[in-house]
Amino acid sequence: MKESTKNPKLIFEETKTVKFFIALFYIFFFSYDIFHYYIVPIYTKEGMVGLENNGLGFWFHIAVIGLLPIAIFFIKRGNPYIVKYIFLFSFAFIEMINSLLIYVGTDKDYGSGNIVELLFLFFSPIFVNKKYFWTAALTMIGKYTIIGSILQESNVVLPIITFFVLSVIAYFLLTRFISYIDSLTSVHLELRKKEKLAVIGQMAAGIGHEIRNPLSSLKGFTQLQQERYPNTNDYYPIMIQEIDRINSIVNDLMYLGKPKEIKFAKANMEEIIAYTLSITQQQAEKQGVTIETILEGPLPPLECDSHQLKQVFINLLKNAIESMPDGGKIKVNVRVLEGKKMYISVDDEGYGIDEENILNLGEPFFTTKRDGTGLGLMVTNQIISDHNGKIQFENKLDKGTKVTLILPVIQK
Ligand code: ADP
Ligand code: MG
Repeated sequence: MKESTKNPKLIFEETKTVKFFIALFYIFFFSYDIFHYYIVPIYTKEGMVGLENNGLGFWFHIAVIGLLPIAIFFIKRGNPYIVKYIFLFSFAFIEMINSLLIYVGTDKDYGSGNIVELLFLFFSPIFVNKKYFWTAALTMIGKYTIIGSILQESNVVLPIITFFVLSVIAYFLLTRFISYIDSLTSVHLELRKKEKLAVIGQMAAGIGHEIRNPLSSLKGFTQLQQERYPNTNDYYPIMIQEIDRINSIVNDLMYLGKPKEIKFAKANMEEIIAYTLSITQQQAEKQGVTIETILEGPLPPLECDSHQLKQVFINLLKNAIESMPDGGKIKVNVRVLEGKKMYISVDDEGYGIDEENILNLGEPFFTTKRDGTGLGLMVTNQIISDHNGKIQFENKLDKGTKVTLILPVIQK
């Protein structure tokens, strides 16, 4: 059994469906046979009242009733999933034996089986299971094909066509059910994700706000100490740097709660990139990473919130640097296509992104780093979508990752 089908709620749902199915099955089965063997013959001259005497006779019905305790056994064992298959296969098998016993070696016209067979197909969508649907359709059509070829009978053509038409109808019903359930599930998941984000956001914004005030006085006092005792020790710069780091994490966290308002203005991409490089330069050098920038052609001014775009490039460059612990080269390329869209790519030679992680990029707190926050790309995604832009991640074949931003030059 698949993990997902072990859920008690789903087992309960399947059990309910199976019980409903079994009830319908026996009602159809017995009504049809009573009608067919005991009532119809009274009004028609040809037949005798009662069961055919050369088939399995009553044993046929006893065998079919015998399926009930087996079904109960499996339901009690907590595996109702198998019951529909047991009914399908057993019934098709018993019915086929019965038909062959009645018709093989006689020249009687073949009369097709109990109407309950239609139930197997027509009601197959209630199990919302494509595998069961296909099994039921193939079993029923297969059964008549086998009987037809053994008996050399053309009377099987009608039931085969009937089952074929029923399959098509059932298939439509089934795919409708499945797509309806899928969209319900995805709406539900989306809602849950939004709720989760809202709660995290409020919490983060609250805590962030509380942390920022003590943090700024801490930084102020540290700077003061450094000025007062410039020669005493080298720890002050490190302390200030670490306080800045906490501050930037807190800023990212607060972004979760209330995305800042964006202020669009014309800005120069060269300046934005130059600023970001100056910020990340130190970390890059420490790790033996060189950054090469290629700005193609005269770049038009970009309508954007330059403060936020700087944040984006810092995040992307930091990720690129962090992906190359043993050094390497980053290529930053900026070009404009048709005067409308600016393509900015950050291309590293680092360890790349696992295929399975690509979908998680930008989820809050998704990180593969020991001391990562998993907030950088979330903030990045938010800012880029506020700018009506796009972001693409590409694993390069040779090695490394290429992140491309596509931004409209003029905001509408
Ligand atoms: P953090 O950097 O704190 O882990 P991010 O949101 O910036 O958080 O990145 C999330 C994850 O995406 C990283 O942990 C890393 O696994 C992956 N990632 C992002 N950029 C790159 C890159 N250039 N190369 C390899 N992996 C990357
Ligand atoms: Mg990062």
